[in-house]
Amino acid sequence: MPRMSRRTFVVSTALAAAVGLDARLAISPAFAQKTPDPARGFYKYKVGAIEVTALYDGIWEKPHDPAFIKNATVEETKEALAKAGLTTDFVSIPLTVVVLTVNGRHILVDAGSGGGQWQPTAGRLHRNMTAAGLDPRQIKTILLSHFHPDHIFGLLEKGTNKPVFPDAELIVTSTEYKWWTEPGRVEKLPDARKGLGQRIQAAFPQWKNFTLIEGEKDVAPGVRLVNAPGHTPGHAAYLVTSGNQQLMVSNDVAYVPALLAPHPEWQGAYDQDGPLAITTRKALLDRVIAEKMMICGAHFPFPGAGVFEKDGAGYAFTPAKS
Ligand SMILES: [Zn+2]
Repeated sequence: MPRMSRRTFVVSTALAAAVGLDARLAISPAFAQKTPDPARGFYKYKVGAIEVTALYDGIWEKPHDPAFIKNATVEETKEALAKAGLTTDFVSIPLTVVVLTVNGRHILVDAGSGGGQWQPTAGRLHRNMTAAGLDPRQIKTILLSHFHPDHIFGLLEKGTNKPVFPDAELIVTSTEYKWWTEPGRVEKLPDARKGLGQRIQAAFPQWKNFTLIEGEKDVAPGVRLVNAPGHTPGHAAYLVTSGNQQLMVSNDVAYVPALLAPHPEWQGAYDQDGPLAITTRKALLDRVIAEKMMICGAHFPFPGAGVFEKDGAGYAFTPAKS
């Protein structure tokens, strides 16, 4: 089975960026983005007969914060970023969303962060989807990894919570859905997450078409939900299989690989259950390596895919270039 390399990525030349549709967000100078956007915000590649379209949503240039990683100092974090060739001025947390095209059906995996609802420097999903030749109205299925803002705020209009993809079936683990919507949950959340919990509880029980998955199941032909808890209680990855090729859509399991490939044991503030997230991360990356799968992740450098290899007690990550 082929290992993923630049050669296995097929760049679509069919559609040039639709520059006329560029609706750049108005960003105040305080939030001026230092990282250039990719020259083209979409990238197509194949897993057997399934087409994957990676769509750039934006970036969070996260200021350094000693609470970010429980068992690493800011200096150690900067060292890991420098080794990966990234700026040490801030932590680069880009966001890429994928569309899987299976037998002509377009399936979105997570919904992006919504225009400016997560960070003022993100929210380009719809522009890049259109540039890639995909009509948001064609999206009838959305596979959700978990309920953090950068993955679900794109489902809801700002202020009103009106559904952005009103006809889409939303698929998520039963564990994730029940955890966030159970009575009394909002009160138990840390203050910084209470607003998120309230929004989930206001919007999701009203959604007309939510499918909750118990265990691990096929959710579309060639697409299987894989339980990957820790980042959130019901976090899911999705395994895409076609012919003799496989892609693990890992979502937030390996978060930012510049930090977590060399230090899979780092416990970030982003992981709701640190020890479980570490166990899941190692098991999933070991599986991807052993089975020679391709892997992509929501916060990997655009186009969001790359190769992991074992490297001592950790891993070495090589990002795919667009
Ligand atoms: Zn995320």
